[in-house]
Amino acid sequence: MSSTSVSILIPLMRRASELPSTLESVEQYLQTTGFDFDVRVLDSRDGEGYGGILRRGAAEAKGSVLVIIDPELPYPMNAIGDAVALIESESADVVFAAGNRKHNNNILLQSILVPILPDPNLYFKAFSSSAARLLLGESKLNGGGFDLEVAYLANKYGFRVESLRVDSDSHAASTFGAISGLTSAIKIRMTDRDNGYRAPRRCPVCFSSEVWSWAQIPGNVVRACSRCKCRYLNNFGATEDLHPVRREVRANLRAHDTSDETAHARTARERTSWRRLKTLRKQVAPRSRILEIGVRDGSFGIAAAREYEYVGIDRTAATARAARAKGLEVYCSTLNGFVNTGPAFDAVTLFHVFENMADPHDALARIKDLLKPGGAVLLTAFDTEGLLYLISERIRMAHNFRTHLILYSRSALIELFERSGFEIVSVAPSFEYRDHKFLRYWITARFPLLAPLVHAILRILPDPLLASSGSIRITAKRRAGPPIDVRAIRSVEPTHAR
Ligand SMILES: [Zn+2]
Repeated sequence: MSSTSVSILIPLMRRASELPSTLESVEQYLQTTGFDFDVRVLDSRDGEGYGGILRRGAAEAKGSVLVIIDPELPYPMNAIGDAVALIESESADVVFAAGNRKHNNNILLQSILVPILPDPNLYFKAFSSSAARLLLGESKLNGGGFDLEVAYLANKYGFRVESLRVDSDSHAASTFGAISGLTSAIKIRMTDRDNGYRAPRRCPVCFSSEVWSWAQIPGNVVRACSRCKCRYLNNFGATEDLHPVRREVRANLRAHDTSDETAHARTARERTSWRRLKTLRKQVAPRSRILEIGVRDGSFGIAAAREYEYVGIDRTAATARAARAKGLEVYCSTLNGFVNTGPAFDAVTLFHVFENMADPHDALARIKDLLKPGGAVLLTAFDTEGLLYLISERIRMAHNFRTHLILYSRSALIELFERSGFEIVSVAPSFEYRDHKFLRYWITARFPLLAPLVHAILRILPDPLLASSGSIRITAKRRAGPPIDVRAIRSVEPTHAR
């Protein structure tokens, strides 16, 4: 493996008498780290501003990490090493230093632009080479607003940004102040509105380019589409065919792992399965052939196999094996890899598994192929437009994306189905049985203040209790005949960034 190469850029916007000693100590320090490095001092040529000289410097830099430092170096040297480590470990693509001095006037800027802004008193920033290429390449501003522009674009293109606290009380002139920052922010917004920046990678559901970084979770960024209101992970990571994302078998599963449905008591799971089966009975006749994608603990399969010809697939070998041990016809397969050797299915069910699939369009096309014309799909999924989801979203962000890749809004799901050759039969809230033990834990963990009240109420309610998990249940039928309007949704422009 080649060693880390670091390009250091020192913009000279102001007279810096400390520069020679800075250069010496930076070189000494970098020699001890074992990085390959090059240091460039960038002085302003004929009226070039701060942004201009950094763009020029970055274009010439060859390192895999790009670090911009202050000529006075008002912080300990190992801050540079820390920033490089954050980027090399892939914890972040962009690092903004934050000094000791508070800059309180940023709340307005944060609301206009993005929550993580650089410190106006420090130049110190670091980028991975790919982030630097895109962010500095797309930037337009010349003055101190350049810093704000980079922060804004980092969000637009879904780069992970980390703040690095450094011990510094730099008294250098700010790159942007309250007024100049505001002027730049407005300029940045206007440029974006006029499509001055390249579009980011599009929403995987509706292909809109109106997408933003919504939150940062460990190792990933959650993106939000403002058109279809879905939320999705920026990096899906390894392809779903290779790695079981959900329900991997772990030696010590935490006692109350709330997203794992198998954590609910058996009776609760069975009653949920019976409820789902009741919905299915309205759509298909007895002895029909049905396919369940993602079999979980097999409780739905056991209920369904009594009156239907049941086939299940699950991409986790252990889950498939456990279900087969219960006498069910279950294959270890992904949806794409599944070969149906029997006649086409009368119904396909997906209970909380659609969110784990990387390409919803492919998945629905595949489901359609597996169904008879007029065959039904039963799907339950979180609804990002649901009230329960909205009030708990921020608290549960990392948890929601522990296994899910995309979370859909109900309107996005309806649109997806209709454009994929299905006809919506019904959309309803999905109720599932939860035992009291689970509910007590759930409330205590999330809303501790409400816990005593909820515990008291639970005492008079039946156990297990029918509860809403903020999910919806969609029933759709495969349209007979050729699909209509298949072309419109995939209007792809190849010019997007990232
Ligand atoms: Zn979308």
